[in-house]
Amino acid sequence: MPRKPTPAERQHFKRRMAHRRQIAGSLEEWRASAFHHALEQFDAAARRLRLTENQIAMIKLPRRITEVRLPVRMDDGTIHNFRAFRVQHNIARGPAKGGIRFHQDVNLDEMKALAFWMTYKCAVVGIPMGGAKGGIVVDPRKLSLGERERLSRRYMAEMIDLFGPDRDVPAPDVNTGPQVMSWMMDTYIMHKHDYLPGVITGKPTELGGSAGRQSATSRGIVICIRKAAARLGLDLKGATAAIQGFGNVGSYAAKFLAEDGVKIVAISDADGAYRNPGGINVAAAMDFVARRGSLRGFKGGTPMRRPMQLLELPVDILVPAALENQITAQNAPRIRARILAEGANGPTTPDADEILARKGVFLIPDILCNAGGVTVSYLEWVQNRMGYYWTEERVNEDLQRIMATAFDNVHQTMRRQRVTMRIAAFIVGIRRVAEASAMRGLYA
Ligand code: NAD
Repeated sequence: MPRKPTPAERQHFKRRMAHRRQIAGSLEEWRASAFHHALEQFDAAARRLRLTENQIAMIKLPRRITEVRLPVRMDDGTIHNFRAFRVQHNIARGPAKGGIRFHQDVNLDEMKALAFWMTYKCAVVGIPMGGAKGGIVVDPRKLSLGERERLSRRYMAEMIDLFGPDRDVPAPDVNTGPQVMSWMMDTYIMHKHDYLPGVITGKPTELGGSAGRQSATSRGIVICIRKAAARLGLDLKGATAAIQGFGNVGSYAAKFLAEDGVKIVAISDADGAYRNPGGINVAAAMDFVARRGSLRGFKGGTPMRRPMQLLELPVDILVPAALENQITAQNAPRIRARILAEGANGPTTPDADEILARKGVFLIPDILCNAGGVTVSYLEWVQNRMGYYWTEERVNEDLQRIMATAFDNVHQTMRRQRVTMRIAAFIVGIRRVAEASAMRGLYA
């Protein structure tokens, strides 16, 4: 006879079902929902922290969700309406902060998850900002440069009241970069008639961007990998790595790892995966992508028939640096890496997490591992507000200190509380957000 659930278990089950109804209709959607995964991670850490229902009510769900249609005149004269979002999850610790993504699969569920992760990511590294995320449903490869500019400007114009250096500060994410940030900053300034570069980060240095921002996420990833390797007794010289996603985050991570003596044996992007057991020439691959726009046709490795198999290669270090939900219960049993460094946001589902933990994989969770980007975005915002700019060495020193401290903090929490690195990171982040929220109290 199965035993009867305890009242606490019944309560927990009821809460999960309520979330499921809030988030997704079918079980299928529920399983694929990144936001559902995010809430599962929250619940696991909140239970450890023994948060009260009232504390949870203040910090768990997004505060403000904005959805708009952006009419844009295309080059052929037609007007196309693009669906766009901005989700502000929590601003207890400071202005909202989070990237803007251009992708054909952008949806509200994903935006909510990404905004949620930003709140706790900022808290894990101790920067005084909250969490947000934005996106436009568009495949930017199908737009001309002019169409991309009009779309970027319309996004900022349509949402202008949400943004501001003390309100909500966007940054680049998938398929957006310094150029899109420049157009958006210009649009904001044209409306406000004030020079306020701190409204957006990830700008080119000519427009108040920070030295070192472009590669900061990847530098942070490599700082974490070095620390994990030291704890495992793994010598990075001669170690091997595979990198999924060869965009901003993945390519610089490959570059910095190679500089540490790691052999990069496979890389991939949306157009295919390439393997080279002798080691991919990272500089040549970066140069190829800069010229051709993607890895398609890259000759420095053998094309893999099933790009997803890159994740299952026998390597020391695996860096998923593309999109969410790549490592699932299906492929997790076949992951052979010793260190899994999450460059992307949400690449691993909660059921895969459990499998990887049982296998003893050293997983560096996204809200810690890729926090170098938002850390230097914060330093950019600080410099914009001072009107005084630091050298790249100074920025990298701060990044090193902040990331190393955060890693040690999370690792210590993991050992003390006997939890996974992911839950430990959430414990650190959630505790800080919950404390700030309690000290501010409820305005009513
Ligand atoms: P990007 O647009 O520069 O690069 C994304 C890369 O992933 C591209 O090479 C693309 O072709 C590839 N890709 C897309 N689908 C793929 C697939 N199915 N298989 C393999 N590759 C695929 O974006 P980015 O800024 O490098 O962001 C990558 C990830 O890192 C995202 O999850 C993003 O949220 C996260 N992130 C980015 C930053 C940042 O500072 N840019 C900071 C923190 C986290």
